[in-house]
Formats: sequence, C-alpha cells, structure tokens
Amino acid sequence: MTARVLISQIMHETNTFSRLKTDLDSYRRRYLLEGNAIASFFRGTRTEIGALLEAGERFGWTLVPAIAANATPSGTVTAECWDKLSGAVLTAARDLGPFDGVVLALHGAMVTETADDAEGDLLERLRRIIGPRVPVAITLDLHANVTDKMAANANAIIAYRTYPHIDQHERATQAAELVRGAIAGEIKPRCVAARRPLLKGANGGITQDGPMVDLLARADRYENSGEALAVSIHAGFTWSDIADTGPSVAVTTDGANPRGRAIAEELMDRIWTTRDERTVRLLSLDEAMAIARRPDASGKPLVIADTTDNPGGGGYGDTTNLLRAMLDAGLRNACFAPICDGEAVEAGRRAGVGNRARIKLGGKIDPAFGAPIEAEGEVIRLTDGKFVHDGPMHKGTVMNMGPSMLYRLGGIDVVVSTNRLQVTDHQVFLSQGVDPRAKAVIGLKSSHHFRAAYQSLAREVVVVDSGSLCSPDLTRFTFRKLRRPIWPLDPIG
Ligand SMILES: [Zn+2]
Repeated sequence: MTARVLISQIMHETNTFSRLKTDLDSYRRRYLLEGNAIASFFRGTRTEIGALLEAGERFGWTLVPAIAANATPSGTVTAECWDKLSGAVLTAARDLGPFDGVVLALHGAMVTETADDAEGDLLERLRRIIGPRVPVAITLDLHANVTDKMAANANAIIAYRTYPHIDQHERATQAAELVRGAIAGEIKPRCVAARRPLLKGANGGITQDGPMVDLLARADRYENSGEALAVSIHAGFTWSDIADTGPSVAVTTDGANPRGRAIAEELMDRIWTTRDERTVRLLSLDEAMAIARRPDASGKPLVIADTTDNPGGGGYGDTTNLLRAMLDAGLRNACFAPICDGEAVEAGRRAGVGNRARIKLGGKIDPAFGAPIEAEGEVIRLTDGKFVHDGPMHKGTVMNMGPSMLYRLGGIDVVVSTNRLQVTDHQVFLSQGVDPRAKAVIGLKSSHHFRAAYQSLAREVVVVDSGSLCSPDLTRFTFRKLRRPIWPLDPIG
C-alpha cells in the first residue's frame, strides 16, 4: 500500500520590533498557495517543496500538499493570518488522513499574536490530531529559535547548513528520507534541543568562515558515523522577543538516546565559547564612501550591503541613509536596490517613463531611520516587478517585487519596488534593465544572502551599518519576554 504523506510549508522570520504587522496580504505578495497550485509552482525548483515532490515520486508516496506560504520577514503575524496558515495544515491532518508521515518546511522563528513559538504551537496541535506514532520531520532555517516544544513534537529537525541558504533541496530530501525510514519501521527518530543563556552567537550563522565551519564539520561527522540521524545547528534570530530566542542545537537520534543530548550539549558548549567571534566588521557609511571614491582599475563593482535595513531580517527596505550617502558622495555608474516604496512607484507612473520628476523616495515607515529623499530624478522604466530567480538562492522560483520603477538619481540607477524584498539575485537589477556587473558600485539591502550571487562579481564587498532596524547594537532594543540573564545583555557567570 502506498504511504500517504502530508507536506506543507509555512515560513516567516518575525522581527517583533517591526511596526509592520504580517497579514495574509504579506503572504500573497510573496506566495500563498494551496492544493494543486503548490506542485505546479514548485516542481523542478531547488526548494524544500521541490525536493519533497521528487521524494514523493521516488518513494511512491501519495502526497497531500496542504499549504505553501512565505512572506518577507516583518513584524508579528496577525491572529487571523496564523489561523489561516496553521488551520490549513491542521484541517488537512484531520480531514484528509490518516497519514503515514508528515514533512513540514518551517522557518523556526515565527511569532504570532497568539503564539510566541508558532512552530511549536503548530507541531503540538498537529501531534494531538495525528497521535504519537506518525513520524513528523521538519526543515528549519539556520536562523531558527528552536524550542523544546518543537523538539518534543517533531521526530526530526533538519536545519539548513548553508548561509547564504542554498541547500533547501538537500535538507528536505534528508527529511523525506528519515520519514521514509520511519514509515518502513527501520528507524524511530527522536529529537532533543539544547540552548545556553545566549541571545546571539555562531557568527550570525555565516558558514564560509568562523565557528560554524567547525560546528558543521562536527555535525557531519556525527551524522556520517551513525551516532545521530540529524544534527542541526541554529544561529537563532536575534530580533524576535520571545523567551527562547538565541542559538540552539537539535539532535535527532534513532530512538530516545542520551547520546543525542550529549552531542547537543557539546556543540552548544562550542557555541558558548566562540560567542565573541565575528568574521565581518561593519563599516560606517563614511568608511564605505571612502572606499567607493578610491580609483579602481579592476573594472569590477564594489558591493556595499546595508545589513541594518535588510528586509530579509525584517528591515523596512525603505530607509534612505545608504542611498543618500552614495548620492552625497557623487558616485557615478552606480546602482542601488531596493527602496521599497509603492507610493514612489505610483508617482513615477504618473510622471511617465522618460520624464524627470521630483519624487519623495523612501523613509516613510519610520522616519527615525532617515528622512525621505526629495530630489529630481528620471523615470527610466516601469515594470510589474516579476522575475524568476536564476542565482543559487531560490533558483527557478518567481519573485514578485510588485509594480516597480527604475529611477535615476544623479549617477545612481535605483530599483524602487512596491513589495519588500532582500537582494539575493542578479535579476533584481537585470529584470529592470540594469546589468550590475557593468556598474562601478552596487548598493543593496541584505546581510549575507547577497553573497550567493554578488561575491564572485565584486572587486570588494563591504557591509555597512546605516543605523536602521536590524542593528547589531542590541542596546537599542527593549526585550520584554526574553529569558534573563542572557549574554550579551547581562553579565553572566
Ligand atoms: Zn536564515
């Protein structure tokens, strides 16, 4: 008899300090798919759902996809939105079962108006419906804040091992394989998680250098030796004010095995002792502009990334400080993306392509992070803002920037979008008619994911602190629900 397996994806990294509530429209702007629409959107993509569709065919499963939903990181998810997203999975579990297994692609740092630990809440309610025996494997983002409730209600936790995240397909394949083994009665996966009084660590999860390199090598060895079925290392997502925020390790073993707890604690000890290690130094805007003004003979662009207004961490995407610094520095042959400002796109549409206009650009969501730029520019191009990712991240999937405008301010071609998005792909520029490889300077909003596409084309990459919402300076935030004492906010030890 073929196994019936429930699959779904619900993704959100919730920055609880953001003013922007996350509702169903936030999901519709990225994707919110149900039923048959899920397979047609994801088939052939290097994503979790793409991998699960392939695994389902390989294993002869009858797959039941309930929902696939993703929204750009933003503030707390509304109760109505969470009811809809979680309800899709729970209703399918109740009405379309019985199921032999479940694989869910989750983020692990989602906070809603009714659940600080949204993923733990979902898994607990799912478990009540399907009972204790049905194997449930979940994939998580490397920036998950993993709770004991997640570990207790999932049989297996499998986090990305890459940042930039480019191994979604591989991790979901691993999750499906564990569920296959569990359905066949070959293994009985059980999961535990460990934390420390740590709000941040593991070098923010960067996997090219720093402590994650050694941590992941150890995780690989434990998996390859068979001591563990899966070892997941999570750097955590700092700007989520819940009790359990911070780095964690989840270990999945065959049967409840004290070795799982020992491995998790050993790896957490390493995260604790390396908590101060950083491989990226943030520059001030002045330092970055000094580099941008240097003569260059390489013919390659300088890439300047603003980590503090990274929409991928909940930044508003409309702050102006980096763009203003580039304008004030008089940079020529430069490009910038994005300023997320639908009103400005609409003003550009009214002005018309080829015309000059004085458009109030950005700085509208929280003026504390920089005033709007008000200068005359030229409307170069207007598009629907849709493109297909062709870089290593999200390859093959559609991105919807919403109505978008290419706006030339001085020597800078600025991509203005309606929807918020992080720059992870060349197509953010190429789809708007700008070749970033031909530019002398590229300004963009991202912390680290941009490197997947931009590191190799750059003569140099610098990351700046423009003073926006995703600041690494944690003294700017008031945490109310976070467990205390915790490093680096409190003296420990
Ligand atoms: Zn992440």
